[in-house]
Amino acid sequence: MNTEISKAAVDALVKNKNLTDGEFKALLQTGEFDGYLFECADKVRREHYGDEVYIRGLIEISNYCKNNCYYCGIRAGNGNAERYRLTKDDILSCAKEGYRLGFRTFVLQGGEDMFFTDEVICDIVSGIKKEYPDCAVTLSLGEKSFDSYKKYYDAGADRYLLRHETANNEHYSKLHPESMSLENRKQCLYNLKKIGYQTGSGFMVGSPYQTYETLIEDLRFLQDLKPDMIGIGPYITHKDTPFKNFESGSLCLTLRLVAILRLMFPYVLLPSTTALGTIHPQGREMGLKAGANVVMPNLSPTSVRKLYTLYDNKICTGDEAAQCIECLKRRVESAGYRIVTDVGNVKK
Ligand code: SAH
Repeated sequence: MNTEISKAAVDALVKNKNLTDGEFKALLQTGEFDGYLFECADKVRREHYGDEVYIRGLIEISNYCKNNCYYCGIRAGNGNAERYRLTKDDILSCAKEGYRLGFRTFVLQGGEDMFFTDEVICDIVSGIKKEYPDCAVTLSLGEKSFDSYKKYYDAGADRYLLRHETANNEHYSKLHPESMSLENRKQCLYNLKKIGYQTGSGFMVGSPYQTYETLIEDLRFLQDLKPDMIGIGPYITHKDTPFKNFESGSLCLTLRLVAILRLMFPYVLLPSTTALGTIHPQGREMGLKAGANVVMPNLSPTSVRKLYTLYDNKICTGDEAAQCIECLKRRVESAGYRIVTDVGNVKK
């Protein structure tokens, strides 16, 4: 019964039809048509982006964070985390090396570190844009006020990544302390869009207490938001969090969701994430074959890579940026795609 529904659901998605909750659920539950689903997703991806894979240089600027998300290794409450923050000079030299290696987007990500005031952030953003006017700057620095987002945008930031994490209120409150709210996170996303950012949202797959129903709510929320970028990856347990006894998310379900998202949002920028590469040695290649078209190698200084541990066993923490990109080029080619030197804007 479910298998019939899920095959028909893939065909409906290909034709750009909306699915009922029941159809989504059948699709999420049934692995039998994964091959077909990934093939359809890849076809749609190639129609919009060919075989091109965009690279984003990820610079992890700080692992200080005022928040206490229960799943995250750099949460304020983790006394075992050794903290660091990069200086503007550090960040500019990461960008310099990245530019040399062919990166035309830099993603500055970090915990919500109060050291990075609006002034400091704007100074860094405008510094990068001045040196590299042909590059995009993406920020992923958490929840800020409308005014702060506007200042970063005016300083030159082009894109912003803020995963909503889960679109279900009850689930949200099981993943975060009371000081945080889904309502505010959603508002941030609508503010970012309004300001003019290319906006990215997303969620972890297999986070504690997630159900098929909450996942469907995630898909519905994304339908409403219509983001330019969607980041998803498996939840991976970190040993120093309250969730240390929960299992990590599954590869199969993550890949299925990557493919579903490609079919639902043909134009979207969809990364094959480091988390996917962490739960399986070929995870990122599989993500690409299921519809992803972006990879985000690490450009952070090698000395701090191991300290930015959102989850256990994160890959690529030992290599220099140049080694990382070489390895990734081979992986992308082995999957049947190619890395391009391109700012990589959304094709809407
Ligand atoms: N402070 C920023 C950046 C957070 S880190 C912000 O609030 O957006 C980026 C993403 O890593 C998070 O949005 C979350 O979805 C993911 N993440 C955090 N902990 C994780 C874990 N244990 N496993 C997998 N992904 C995790």
